[in-house]
Amino acid sequence: MDIQNTIQTLSKELNQHNYNYYVLDKPIISDYEFDLKLKELQNLENKYPEYFDENSPTQRVGGTITKNFQTVPHEHRMYSLDNSYSKEELVDWEKRIQKVLGEVPLEYTCELKYDGASISITYENGKLKRAVTRGDGFQGDDVTNNIKTIKSIPLRIKGNFPSTFDVRGEIILPFAGFEKMNQDLIEIGELPYSNPRNTASGSLKLQDSAEVAKRPLDCLLYFLIGNKLPFNSQFDGLETARQWGFKVPKEAKLAGNLEDVFEFIDYWDIHRHQLPYETDGVVVKVNSFHFQDELGFTAKSPRWAIAYKFKSEQVSTKLLSISYQVGRTGAITPVANLEPVQLAGTVVKRASLHNADQMEKLDIRVGDTVFVEKGGEIIPKIIAVDLTKRPETSEPTKYITHCPECDTQLVRGEGEANHYCPNFCGCPPQIIGRIQHYISRKAMDIEGLGGETVALLFNNGLVHNYADLYELTVEQILPLERMAQKSAENLVKGVENSKNIPFERVLYAIGIRFVGETVAKKLAKHYKSIDALSQAALMDLVLVDEIGDRIAQSVIDFFENKENKIIIERLKSYGIQFEIIEKVNPNATNKLSGKTFVVSGVFEKYSRDDLKKAIEDNGGKVGSSISAKTDYVVAGDSMGPAKLEKANKLNVPIISEDDFMILINES
Ligand code: AMP
Ligand code: ZN
Repeated sequence: MDIQNTIQTLSKELNQHNYNYYVLDKPIISDYEFDLKLKELQNLENKYPEYFDENSPTQRVGGTITKNFQTVPHEHRMYSLDNSYSKEELVDWEKRIQKVLGEVPLEYTCELKYDGASISITYENGKLKRAVTRGDGFQGDDVTNNIKTIKSIPLRIKGNFPSTFDVRGEIILPFAGFEKMNQDLIEIGELPYSNPRNTASGSLKLQDSAEVAKRPLDCLLYFLIGNKLPFNSQFDGLETARQWGFKVPKEAKLAGNLEDVFEFIDYWDIHRHQLPYETDGVVVKVNSFHFQDELGFTAKSPRWAIAYKFKSEQVSTKLLSISYQVGRTGAITPVANLEPVQLAGTVVKRASLHNADQMEKLDIRVGDTVFVEKGGEIIPKIIAVDLTKRPETSEPTKYITHCPECDTQLVRGEGEANHYCPNFCGCPPQIIGRIQHYISRKAMDIEGLGGETVALLFNNGLVHNYADLYELTVEQILPLERMAQKSAENLVKGVENSKNIPFERVLYAIGIRFVGETVAKKLAKHYKSIDALSQAALMDLVLVDEIGDRIAQSVIDFFENKENKIIIERLKSYGIQFEIIEKVNPNATNKLSGKTFVVSGVFEKYSRDDLKKAIEDNGGKVGSSISAKTDYVVAGDSMGPAKLEKANKLNVPIISEDDFMILINES
């Protein structure tokens, strides 16, 4: 098989797997196998750039930087929708339609109204050509590179499509992905995003498409537009789009009259809370294109469609008090304590006020009656104050100036939304929060020790930082509340076991601001030891993949802090892993000098990177594809058939990981 063929076959295969996973939600291979295939394609493309294809599945990972998004005109204008808030308004809408069309029987397509950012994507000859935001409806921003990273959007489509058309839809962020993103932010001490819709639309305008690729965005499509489309109603259009490979939600229904439309609305008004993404209403469209044409448009929107907005879930209640929470990084979050009230099936007692600016904007005061709304987010928010109910004696709220926990004067960095308590080493919630982070599952994963026990240990003067954990004894812990012999022993054992946790997780555990799991991995891999990292200069740090100024400065600050230095030295003395342990033969030799290896497939004992490193450590070369110059192929399970064939054709010996180890270990 020639290279071009292999590349095309692999691309096709990967596109199909993406479709299975992201559109059908039915993957048929493991993520790992997928990654291997993707890597294989990437390698081939690197080696044979002449076969580069801008619609290759490798382009999904992003990496292009767009400094200025180009403004481009829409071939077909993107209209907005008229809104309605009651069934009477829908009855009136139908009357207006019948005035134009006469008393004809009408069918309506009912769809959910997805709450995100609208997008128009042009396909030419079955390939994704361009994606443009709505903008003012006449022209929008070209966000093609960012859109290509959204895996449910096909880069190529299949079926009987016209040579060019646009597909319209909504870019959304499903609740689960949104919450995961926020969890990650909270973990590194950053503020969470406030709602999925704004986060989705903000994502489209990120300059680095690799950043967009990391966000769990999705695209729900609802409309095809163009010449010579092979259907003549909205409902058939949805089905056709589905067949061509687009993600079109299945909830849409064809209604024979307004009664059916109302039924759809009533059903989804209740059941929308079970959907994985946010909807704010229903869109009702006259089904027949023939009737749509007769009805036409107003200046802003089609006459043949209307949005019915669900009543937002809002209640009013009283603000009893405002309290201020101190996070592990010292960030202060103001919280509204409310008179308990029923909202969207739960009792609401508290709401986040975000920061001082937000409070000022609302001019919120204790004693006020406020409107509380629940959107997609878990924590409800206060959207306005009912000024008609404000007590005459009320006074503007003064934001606190000192930490409610340690009384240190708060600081607020330029351009920062939040106030901070700078008492890093003496502020109890910061200390407790840091230790809780240190022991958490993704960090040191200390069994037998939970967040509440940490607070207990601190309050009893037994620990002041995470290094103190390693000096705890059973005798010291036993007198604590609800502590039995067995649990005390387990705690000490759990702490002891944490000495085996690998360096990258230790690096995450020590809680350097802005250093989350992924960044910790990058830093560990690059510097290999805490000594090397702590000595790195700013200029050096920013050269590491994905490390920006802010993270770099935070790393520097951490290691410059005297207290931190002492704690790290203590941890070292207890035997915490402060360097990467090389897994494969660390002793460099020249045994493989002059030999070229290709590593392919899935291995049992070693990772592919380990094997490659072992080859290089022993003087060999790692090639990316099999050629006449290859001396050995180190093959694991499920090596690609193309590679196997090639190796056989060129008579290149295929060896296992065990054979390879014998090769480098024999004298
Ligand atoms: P509005 O922004 O309130 O004018 O509402 C119009 C927008 O609703 C459109 O631009 C679409 O982005 C969005 N929308 C969401 N779901 C649908 C749908 N099923 N059909 C049509 N438009 C939709
Ligand atoms: Zn404090």
